[in-house]
Amino acid sequence: MTENKRIDTHHVKRVTVYASSSSALSPVYYDAARKVGEILAEAGKSIVYGASGHGLMGAVADGALSRGGEVFGVVPGFLQELELTHHQLTELKVVDGMHVRKQLMLENSDAVVALPGGCGTMEELFEALTLKRLGQWLGPVVLVNTNHFYDGLIDFLNHSVGERFMGNNHLDMWSVIDEPEQVLTALETAPGWDAGALAFANVTPANA
Ligand code: AMP
Repeated sequence: MTENKRIDTHHVKRVTVYASSSSALSPVYYDAARKVGEILAEAGKSIVYGASGHGLMGAVADGALSRGGEVFGVVPGFLQELELTHHQLTELKVVDGMHVRKQLMLENSDAVVALPGGCGTMEELFEALTLKRLGQWLGPVVLVNTNHFYDGLIDFLNHSVGERFMGNNHLDMWSVIDEPEQVLTALETAPGWDAGALAFANVTPANA
């Protein structure tokens, strides 16, 4: 897959951001999340995310809004009742549940950026990777490895490829950056991916 056409970052208009809901993290995580929001907004990319005004979600939204960016929130009604929703969003969509929300966040979006997070972020990230593996969604997926947060997960993914649960081709599905400043380059240099990925979604002795 690496020889396929590269993604032109100018075609990445809308980025879905997955990120932690936690308000109890070390400041280094909020600073990086805010910076990612600022950089995406300054580059003219709009953001779709989980609509919270708290945690890394809130930080990335604040960063983007502070640079005049468009930020779209998608939230299930039951979560909105917690009153954690950001109040300055460009647009807020209230939907029926987590599944609809996840689908809405991803469809119509050109790329995924995963900031550090807990099970919610992991679930969203892995759904995007699974759809990409099956050729159903094709955009770049960038993991922001602030404070080496994702080191263990990256080792695990490499292990999964090493043990042939995924093929070497699947290593092209995600890229990892250490600093927010690398996010645009990561979007720009993501290996091409197309619907032909379905042909090697299942690992066999022939394509492992
Ligand atoms: P977690 O990483 O477990 O904190 O979950 C964060 C991810 O799950 C976000 O990308 C959201 O889409 C979703 N999520 C989980 N909790 C919330 C919340 N309280 N408000 C909004 N979205 C949430």
